[in-house]
Amino acid sequence: MTDRRTQLLEEIERRRDDLIELTQALIRIPTLNPPGDNYREICDFLATRLRARGFIIELVRAAGAPGDSDRYPRWNVVGHKEGRSAGECLHFNSHIDVVTVGEGWTTDPFGGELRDGRIYGRGTCDMKGGLATSIIAAEAFIDVYADFAGAVEISGTADEETGGYGGVAYLAEKGFFSPERVQHVIIPEPLNKDRVCLGHRGVWWGEIETKGRIAHGSMPFLGDSAIRHMGAVLAEIEATLYPALELKHTVMPVVPPQARQSTMNINSLHGGQAEPEAGYTGFPSAVVADSARMVVDRRYLIEESGAEVRQELVDVLERVKARRKNFRYELRELWQVSPTLTDRHAPIVEAVSAAIGEVLGLAPEYVVSPGTYDQKHIDRIGKLKNCIAYGPGILDLAHQPDEWVAVDDMLDSAKVMALALLRLLGPR
Ligand SMILES: [Zn+2]
Repeated sequence: MTDRRTQLLEEIERRRDDLIELTQALIRIPTLNPPGDNYREICDFLATRLRARGFIIELVRAAGAPGDSDRYPRWNVVGHKEGRSAGECLHFNSHIDVVTVGEGWTTDPFGGELRDGRIYGRGTCDMKGGLATSIIAAEAFIDVYADFAGAVEISGTADEETGGYGGVAYLAEKGFFSPERVQHVIIPEPLNKDRVCLGHRGVWWGEIETKGRIAHGSMPFLGDSAIRHMGAVLAEIEATLYPALELKHTVMPVVPPQARQSTMNINSLHGGQAEPEAGYTGFPSAVVADSARMVVDRRYLIEESGAEVRQELVDVLERVKARRKNFRYELRELWQVSPTLTDRHAPIVEAVSAAIGEVLGLAPEYVVSPGTYDQKHIDRIGKLKNCIAYGPGILDLAHQPDEWVAVDDMLDSAKVMALALLRLLGPR
């Protein structure tokens, strides 16, 4: 007689068609964000599926969250399944939204076409494939180990692609992610089936404005050009800040490796007159720019703080001020997210690592994401440190045309998730 562990893995193999059909069904509900299409439809679909497996379902609208409106309500779904005895809760959190389609597709982005073992469509990789994988893993586990301890939760949440405020952040504020309720979290983002993602770098966005004085463009000496002041700021950033950022390295195993240092993107630059409205065919008028604005997107390391990041920019601006006449500026912080790094020996990391070894026969790679994802809210608002991203799909395919996920990778990941469930919630 085969033991139950073997039975569990066989059970997942047997559900291959179910996994394919579930992924296709999710892809065929276009949940583009922005604006946030069909959130209720996909939540209802997930609710029906999970309710049939004995999950208690809660549908939660993030009323009043950014983006929420009666036309585009921010719906979320949370399913909760109790085991036969007391124990811990493992929560699988997936975002239900997908990014815009873009150009260059050779297949229907919402068709879910299956070809050569791959399912194609917007969101297959990021991350409806991961969502379907976690559902198959949880259902197989519950069926084979009906006597499991603790609880399994599966959520589908809104707006990850636009910051997660109408999704995980809202749920965390309402107590859905809290140490009393949830002990382990897996976010099945597409990090590749043999990698465990421990967290992400921090984010600091700010806007720098330089001030000038308007005058006639034929007599610029009577005014003061905010654009020339901004030019001096850019020169100082090139001369001192970028070289300093390149020297800041981290213990975080960020992928790709070029992101294993501090980085800063100049997101936008505006100076002087606004762009003319569409349809205006005349010339601009002759004025000296009295304002220039630059938005910077700074990604920082666990070794740094948001306050230090801000101070570095203040130092740049003060150095410019010391040598330029009439230099005036404002620095406005737009938003900030602290870096997150789950302990390498946290229980969820150990459980998934052991399962990767068992299913794939290799040691997992530990990685950190260059950008943030919903783990930021689970960590800061939910106070849950025992959280990772782990799921099928090749990260580089996310947001690309002809995005796909391989069925075999989903099956392997489902086995890893099921064995992690067994290790953490197995019958006592
Ligand atoms: Zn994603």
